[in-house]
Amino acid sequence: MSHHYLRIFKSYPIEEVKKGLMIAGDLTANCAACNALGIDPYSAATCPECGVTFRFIASRRLESHPSERFKFARRIADKRPDLTLIDLSDYKSATGDKSAKDFFGF
Ligand SMILES: [Zn+2]
Repeated sequence: MSHHYLRIFKSYPIEEVKKGLMIAGDLTANCAACNALGIDPYSAATCPECGVTFRFIASRRLESHPSERFKFARRIADKRPDLTLIDLSDYKSATGDKSAKDFFGF
């Protein structure tokens, strides 16, 4: 049976995602909780700065190179089965919405 990567939608508490998210760039990742830089996305289980356990990963590169999405998904599934790949623009709009709501007191 052939396997394909299909995107799914699942709801998460955004604060929990933020406390366990690394955002991968071209070579290294940063921690979404404390913005620590230079994290190895393929080996770091926890943030060397703030100590959060990574459970999610998003990629900055996929915004500019969307055709690499499935290659990246395959690499993450192979090397980091402990991480859930989420879409960075979804995360950004969710956190943006939240800070807007906090700002306006909703
Ligand atoms: Zn951190």
